[in-house]
Amino acid sequence: MRGLPIYLDNCATTACDPRVMEAMLPYFTQHYGNASSRGHAFGWKAQAAVEEAQQQVAALIGAEPGEIIFTSGATESCNLALRGISTLYAGKGNHMITVKTEHKAVLDTCRVLEKGGMEITYLDVGTDGQPDLTALRNAIRPSTILIAVMWANNETGVIMPVNEIGAIAKEHGVLFFSDATQAAGKIPVNVRDAGTGLLALSAHKLYGPKGAGALYIRRKDPRVKVAAQITGGGQQHNVRSGSLNVPGIVGLGRAAALCMDQLPEEQERLLSFRNTLEHALLQLPGTTVNGQASARLPQVSNISFSYLNSSQILSVLNKQIAVSSGSACTSGSLDPSYVLKAMQLPDELAKAAIRFSPGRYTTAEEINDTIGLVTGTISELRKSSPAWQLRD
Ligand SMILES: *Cc1c(COP(=O)(O)O)cnc(C)c1O
Repeated sequence: MRGLPIYLDNCATTACDPRVMEAMLPYFTQHYGNASSRGHAFGWKAQAAVEEAQQQVAALIGAEPGEIIFTSGATESCNLALRGISTLYAGKGNHMITVKTEHKAVLDTCRVLEKGGMEITYLDVGTDGQPDLTALRNAIRPSTILIAVMWANNETGVIMPVNEIGAIAKEHGVLFFSDATQAAGKIPVNVRDAGTGLLALSAHKLYGPKGAGALYIRRKDPRVKVAAQITGGGQQHNVRSGSLNVPGIVGLGRAAALCMDQLPEEQERLLSFRNTLEHALLQLPGTTVNGQASARLPQVSNISFSYLNSSQILSVLNKQIAVSSGSACTSGSLDPSYVLKAMQLPDELAKAAIRFSPGRYTTAEEINDTIGLVTGTISELRKSSPAWQLRD
C-alpha cells in the first residue's frame, strides 16, 4: 500500500519497477565499463548489456536489435527523428505533415524546422481526436518527406489509425514517424505492421528510469537514415554520439521485457479500472469522457466536469489524488489544453478536464477511493458554484 496521495498520473511518469532497478544496480558499481571500450572485459560486459537491451526493446515493437538507437528519452528521440530526417532528405523535399494534437516534443521541433524553411501541414482532428485520412492524403505533395503521427495521445489516450497512416505513407513513398511513448508497453505496437520508418519511446513511461529512451530507425525496405544531431565519439554508428548510459539502457531493456511479458494481463486490469472509474464518474451530471468515441489506451481517462475548472478541482483533490489537468509539460499554464481545443471542445469544457492515469501499482481499492473522493469534491464545488446553480 503506497498511501496518500493516490498516484494516478502514470502518463506523466511511472514508478521504476523494482525489478528494473535491480537489473540496473550492478551497472553502476560493478560493471561500470564504457560500452565503447573494446580492449577489456569491463567494456565487453557493458557492450553485452547494451546489446541485450537492444534485443529487449526491439522485441517489444517488432523490430531488429540493430534498428534501436538509445537516447536520453522520447523528447530527444523525436528531435533526432524530425531534425535528422529534415537534413538528410532535404534533397527530396521540404514538406512534412503532422497533427495538431502531437506532443510538444514534436510540435515545438516542427516550429523550429519551419524557421529553417521546412513547410509543415498541421492536420486537424475531429471531436474523436482522429485526423481525417482523406485530408492526410490530400496534404501529401511531391515534396513531402515525412508524416509524423503519434501512436496514442498522452492527454486523452486516443489511439491513432497508425496502420492506415503507414499504408498511405508507403503508397506515396513518404516516411512515417510515430511517437509511441504512451503506447509502447501498454498496447501491442508493431513497427512492421504499422509501416513506421522511425518510432520513439521512453523508459520512464513504461516503469523504467528517467533519462533513457530509444529511437527505432528502420534498416531495410527501404533503409532509413537520419543526420546525427549530437556529434562526437561516433558511438551508435555515428547516429548519436556520447558514452552510452549503460545503467539506463539496461533499465529500459528490462522494463520493455517486463511490459511485454505482462502486456495482456496489465491491459485487461487497467481497462477494468478505466471502465469502473468512468462508469462511476459519468453518474455525475455534466460529466464527459473526452475522446470516448475512439479506441483509447486502457490506462487513460480524460474527463471534463462542466461548470468547474481544473485548477479549482486540483487544488482540492491534490492532497489525496495525484492527477493532472493535461500533460505535465503544459499543466502549469491556465490556458485550456491545445489537444482538447483541437478536438473542438468548448473552452469551458477544455478548462474543466482532469486526466486520470492509473498504472501497474494502482489497486482496485485506490480506484474506489478515487471515485468517492472525486464524486464528493465535484458535488461540493458545484454547490458553491453560482454558474452551476443557474444552469439552464
Ligand atoms: C512523455 C512524452 C514525451 C517526452 O518523453 P521524455 O522521455 O520525457 O522526453 C514525448 N511524447 C509523448 C507522447 C509523451 O507522452
